Amino acid sequence: MIINGRTRPTAVIGWPIAQSLSPVMHNAAYEALGLNWACVPLGVPDQRALLAFTEAARSLSFVGFNVTMPYKQAMLELCDEAASLAQLAGAVNTVHCVDGRLIGYNTDGRGLLESLENDAGFDPAGRSVVILGAGGAAGAALTAFILARASDITVINRTVERAEEMLARVRNNLRNTTAAAIPLGPSAAEAVRGADLIVNATPAGMSTSDPCPLPAEWLRQGQVVLDMVYQRPETALLRAASLAGARPVSGLGMLVAQGALAIDIWMGEGGGETRAPRDVMRAAAAAALEEQHAPAGGDGS
Ligand code: NAP
Repeated sequence: MIINGRTRPTAVIGWPIAQSLSPVMHNAAYEALGLNWACVPLGVPDQRALLAFTEAARSLSFVGFNVTMPYKQAMLELCDEAASLAQLAGAVNTVHCVDGRLIGYNTDGRGLLESLENDAGFDPAGRSVVILGAGGAAGAALTAFILARASDITVINRTVERAEEMLARVRNNLRNTTAAAIPLGPSAAEAVRGADLIVNATPAGMSTSDPCPLPAEWLRQGQVVLDMVYQRPETALLRAASLAGARPVSGLGMLVAQGALAIDIWMGEGGGETRAPRDVMRAAAAAALEEQHAPAGGDGS
């Protein structure tokens, strides 16, 4: 990649940011697509820095930027416009900078569906789904499963009030899907055992020492278990899923798909039929993840 006077920046913002695979994955895609863009990681430590960055992004030559923890919900308020999917999800993970305006999107939900189809051949239509967590990623998953016509969705969260607020936001859009919020505890066992798909949308698993966020004995054969956390070696949840005979799906495929969908948005009409190269992005992200977890020499960043 050659950066010159005409290179346009993109960014991934969040805190902490050192572990993000997005810059490697995006830059590999730009190179394959022949785009003179460059993605940089920007650590945004607090709200003041977030406001300063969004103001700068309006006036500088940014194509757009991705937003990661903990700012996806705050970004919804900072955009000048937000796509209806982002509004329903209550979170923005992709911003397109257009003529000084910030247009917010949420590609996490569609990325999740794309990964479930590609990595597990799973279609949520008419199926029973459990989402663990009630933050930005869980909101995107909830919206995606409603649009994909899941039969029933149970949101399980430590703080059940947050799960209830999330459901209240989508209540009018449920159509034939039924939805419930329950606290993470023994009362969640039945919903987990009965589900066709379980999605972990909490950060539990980001540290290799994190325990399984659900009791392993609640999982069973025939289920698909997708952990949004991508970790090497696999997370405790995915280990438990394998042991139970369920199908484990790492969050890496979702990461690739949500990033690819962001690039598709940024290329817009100029991209014509061209789509971001998922295979190139996945190879770059997987190699960077391996490198982060290489035993000797690395500092993990
Ligand atoms: P968030 O907005 O901070 O929400 C975190 C949620 O997890 C909250 O509901 C919180 O519960 C719950 N939680 C936190 N720690 C927990 C624990 N130890 N045990 C049980 N529940 C816990 O975060 P987010 O943006 O939704 O992201 C969640 C995770 O998904 C992150 O690890 C992120 O990296 C990952 N993610 C991956 C992808 C991908 O493409 N693979 C995309 C998006 C997000 P309370 O409400 O009780 O605090």
